[in-house]
Amino acid sequence: MLRLATVLLLALPVPAGSALAVWMVPPVDSEAAQTWQGRVPAADSRGYDVLAYRLELDLAALPPQTPRLVATGRIHLRLLAAIPHVRLDLVNQFEISAVTCDGLAAAWTHAGDSLSVVLPVAAVAGAEHVVAIEYAGTPPRHGPYYAGLLLRTHGEMTPDDPTDDGPSVGNVSQPYSSHSWFPGKDHPADKARLEMTVTAPDTLTVVATGRLLGTADLPAERRRWDWATDYPVAPYLIGLAVSNYESWYESCGDEALEFHVFSEHREIAASVFAPTCAMLAWLQDRLGPYPFTGEKYAQAEFVWGGAIENQTITLMGQATLLLPERSARLVVIHELAHHWFGNSLTPSTWRDIWLNEGFARYCEALWLEHTEDRQSYFDYLALLRRPTLFVGDGLLGDPDPVLPNLLVYDKGAWVLHMLRHELGDAVFFAALRDYATAPELVRALTDRAAMTAVFSRHAGRDLAPFLAPWLDSDAVPALDIRQRRLGQGRHLVEIVQSQSGPFFPLTVPVRIFAGAQTVDLRLPMQERLAACEVATAAPIDSLRVDPDGWLLHRTAVAPAPALLAASPQPNPAEDAVHLAYWLAGADRVTAAVYDARGRLVLRRALGVQPATGSRDEGGEPLIWSWNGCSGDGRQVPAGVYWLELRTSRDRTARKVTLLR
Ligand SMILES: [Zn+2]
Repeated sequence: MLRLATVLLLALPVPAGSALAVWMVPPVDSEAAQTWQGRVPAADSRGYDVLAYRLELDLAALPPQTPRLVATGRIHLRLLAAIPHVRLDLVNQFEISAVTCDGLAAAWTHAGDSLSVVLPVAAVAGAEHVVAIEYAGTPPRHGPYYAGLLLRTHGEMTPDDPTDDGPSVGNVSQPYSSHSWFPGKDHPADKARLEMTVTAPDTLTVVATGRLLGTADLPAERRRWDWATDYPVAPYLIGLAVSNYESWYESCGDEALEFHVFSEHREIAASVFAPTCAMLAWLQDRLGPYPFTGEKYAQAEFVWGGAIENQTITLMGQATLLLPERSARLVVIHELAHHWFGNSLTPSTWRDIWLNEGFARYCEALWLEHTEDRQSYFDYLALLRRPTLFVGDGLLGDPDPVLPNLLVYDKGAWVLHMLRHELGDAVFFAALRDYATAPELVRALTDRAAMTAVFSRHAGRDLAPFLAPWLDSDAVPALDIRQRRLGQGRHLVEIVQSQSGPFFPLTVPVRIFAGAQTVDLRLPMQERLAACEVATAAPIDSLRVDPDGWLLHRTAVAPAPALLAASPQPNPAEDAVHLAYWLAGADRVTAAVYDARGRLVLRRALGVQPATGSRDEGGEPLIWSWNGCSGDGRQVPAGVYWLELRTSRDRTARKVTLLR
């Protein structure tokens, strides 16, 4: 799913220096969403497994009339235990007229959006039954997105738009709103097969999950559409779209593409959806075959401020379709990518929703890398990285299950980006594909352990410690870098993680600038301090942690060096020369002079000197002066000399030319 608030607007012309423009539709849904106090269905363990849904939906009245649904939901289930009654989810707004089990009248109670059906036969574990519920009413706006089955008209969200006012039906059932329009077990972990029969005015097109079995004309200018899927589908992904659509069809390799849009948006939609086949081909190349091969991939417009990846029929909100084209196309790739991450590999609880949204979001960045360039990929990820670095946004591994914020999208994508850096492209993309095609996961369920296992197998090590601090804490590493000269062009580069939160085992990229030379290092951190020796021809000018933007981290301002000396003044010198220096902390200082051949000319113990504060912060330096004499008081000849200062923690040397 992508709601408008989670879509990044990339194609707006932004004048240099101005803030990023923000484009919003009126927040028609937000007030209700924030006050939603609805019931979250209980966990999956209810003593039965749904094998198939057979839904017969009659759209008896559509806007502008008060919408009315007259329906029968048949639930084919297998008992996992000898339970005396089965508990289904269905909102109270519907009136139930009959409940049967295997054709026998069954007793039932309906309260608190929960329908309890007493089995009229002796319950036996393993036995299969078909429970049928006849119900009618107006599907309510439901759930945190104030959605469910939306029965609206084209222009409802854009009243100034001179559109036609034909009806538009489309559903957003994530996370727990499927029971606002059909009875069942409203839990992502219980996938089932589906048959859906929809009756509507014959001027409308009905598109649903799976493949179209056929249509039948009925009296009174009505038509029945029969859809079914052979692939299991989670209840929240059962999709339905109905409108007076303008439709077109394409074939894309072995797959069929369908497009159903409002005629007033035909041109825009054709342009936004143009790369769909290229996207499908690219995703298949990256992630393996389309998981719902042989059915179809449809995109249908509906009236909403977002998009939802209903299985084989993505619903594209009108407001999303009308975004700047580059942004709208990223929604297209996002929802298509969900057909691997979310629809095929479905998180068994919403706790793991980042496996769904984070992966789909990351595919947006990969698509930009594929179609534009590497810089677009990095720019996009930089855009996703909030200034807070997601600190305080909750836990990625256990987000708010009902109203997940951008954390699961953006930090989720960032975790994959960092994993790519950790593993390298070859291993990362092989693991990604294996994860998406793992036989035990495809068209089944996934969770954190399953994802970790696949990537760990490819990495050749357990990645749980790598993932844990990103998923189980909201901390980010604070990386301090420092370097120390070892002599003969060698330096010791050290990275320290100084955050108070957990330790992050990760590899830190470091770029060293030394004169004309640039050196790139990768420092794996197994503990909070990692060090590495590096040789450079020239002295190191500066160090950069993560120069390309691979890590979520804070870089502490490089701490002031323990000892820093300015250039000697004057230079060249005729007699006395002065060396200004700064000390980060009080320390014992020794000065020495060497000639050009490295022979000691003079050594002076200067005793313990006070801290000066750093040069950058305007600290007043200490001065050591050399009078051009050796230790025994004789003038030294003209030439090049090295002035060295040493403390217990550091050493520095400066060259001076002495004239006589
Ligand atoms: Zn999504």
